[in-house]
Amino acid sequence: MSSHETLLYEPQGPVQQTKKRPQRYSIRDPVDINMAEYLISGGTTYVPEDGLTGSTLFGSFEGLTYNDFVMLPGFIDFTSDEVDLKSALTRKITLRTPFVSSPMDTVTESNMAIGLALCGGIGIIHHNCSVDAQADEVRKVKKYKQGFILDPICLSPDNTLRDLRDVKKQSGFSGIPITETGRLGAALKGIVTSRDVDFLGDESLSRPLHDLMTPRDDLVVAHYGCTLEEANEILQSNKKGKLPIVNERDELVALISRTDLKKSRNYPWASKDEKKQLIVGAAIGTREEDKPRLEALVNAGLDVVVLDSSQGNSVFQLDMIKYSKQRYPDLQVIGGNVVTAQQAKNLIDAGVDGLRVGMGVGSICITQEVLAVGRPQATAVYKVAEYARRFSVPVIADGGIQNTGHIVKALALGASTVMMGSLLAGTTEAPGQYYFQDGVRLKKYRGMGSLSAMEKSGSQQRYFSVGEKTKVAQGVSGSVVDKGSIFQFAPYLISGVQHSCQDVGALSLTALRSNMYSGELRFEKRTNSAILEGGVHGLHSYEKRLY
Ligand code: IMP
Repeated sequence: MSSHETLLYEPQGPVQQTKKRPQRYSIRDPVDINMAEYLISGGTTYVPEDGLTGSTLFGSFEGLTYNDFVMLPGFIDFTSDEVDLKSALTRKITLRTPFVSSPMDTVTESNMAIGLALCGGIGIIHHNCSVDAQADEVRKVKKYKQGFILDPICLSPDNTLRDLRDVKKQSGFSGIPITETGRLGAALKGIVTSRDVDFLGDESLSRPLHDLMTPRDDLVVAHYGCTLEEANEILQSNKKGKLPIVNERDELVALISRTDLKKSRNYPWASKDEKKQLIVGAAIGTREEDKPRLEALVNAGLDVVVLDSSQGNSVFQLDMIKYSKQRYPDLQVIGGNVVTAQQAKNLIDAGVDGLRVGMGVGSICITQEVLAVGRPQATAVYKVAEYARRFSVPVIADGGIQNTGHIVKALALGASTVMMGSLLAGTTEAPGQYYFQDGVRLKKYRGMGSLSAMEKSGSQQRYFSVGEKTKVAQGVSGSVVDKGSIFQFAPYLISGVQHSCQDVGALSLTALRSNMYSGELRFEKRTNSAILEGGVHGLHSYEKRLY
């Protein structure tokens, strides 16, 4: 199924639960038991119904969070790696894994979007930057070709050894192509690798690179349009570490690195469009000045736009939805954020293709504290998804996801995908540098409604603060621990979700949701002591390693 193929969203869609299940016998209430019948049957047919259905769990007037309930196990007749995680992001975009990264300036730029798309999810590029910078990030994802470095750092022949050492210190790269202007797209003049400069001392720091580089005439290059396999063969047969790719004017257009090739794997689940390019989303605000931004993003190849507002039920957003759908009919538009069916109704009526659900529940969020508005996330997801499914509008559970258990709970409550900020913020692919504090390797993570983020232009709109003299912060700025690369972390998330689905007996995410709506999936509320019991307890000390 291609990523742009229309998803048959349940309840109409096929539910992948083909294996024959042992029959369940149920009677609504133990007092209904016809004891005579029970005895005649030899006491074998009756199993009292246990736990709560989704509608009973969320039928009360209390708002629930993911931690307030647990799912009861079902019947397993398949292995966990058979569980199909295909799920709808919007009416027309289906992902192979239900993971979406938040449009936040410490979470999603092109590296995160590329990594997550290769792992079957999608990244939403933040808009706390200039229009050009955001469009460039989108372009980098769309132009990504596995193994090809499309934005290599270049230097010019007049740069010095000192410049080269600075570049190496900052980027870690050792083979730097030399072009006429020091930029990609200019005539290739040579390449400098560590072999050319390793033994030079500080007395050579001001020597120009044209003295030190391997000149163009001695270089092996490949030509634009070659496949990765062809490039690989050239690299191998010439025993080179770097292979410049040039166009017919001998201008540098890309670089291939042997170390990258050795690391490169297959990503059969990668989220791609019909041109086989990775798909990407980007966030914008809902004001007049966001219209040219949207145009630049669409020109850069954007697949889905997220209208970024903490309270999406506004006249600004309704106008922007109608404008975007009418001006760019092929673009998928996600609206939000909403937490009630009434809010969702207005956005669905205006034509959204997906809804982002969550208010005041993000890890960095203080909205519920300072504005007293929002909703506990499990209830918000259930209520909005239950309404939106009638219109085949998929729901993204946004914020408050702390672990794989929360991901599955969100999906079991009707969400099709989950949007994560803090969980992805500490990965290598998130923007920002690592730093050490108290011996722990950290990365910065901040709310887009924090004062530090709002000092930059884009995020004020999300919190309706543009032009206000006194800002009301709705987020904080902090740090998260290093989580390693998304290429290790996403497979852990995938396996965790698959194992959980296996435990509740759901062979796919579609089955998980439909089992919830049919009442087959049962839940139980957790008391405070049940929550304590469900965590690690009674140990003197322990180490918690997740993967
Ligand atoms: P997390 O995954 O719990 O860290 O939550 C991430 C989500 O929090 C984002 O996708 C946004 O919906 C939301 N968010 C981002 N910045 C802020 C903020 O400053 N205040 C409130 N919510 C925020």
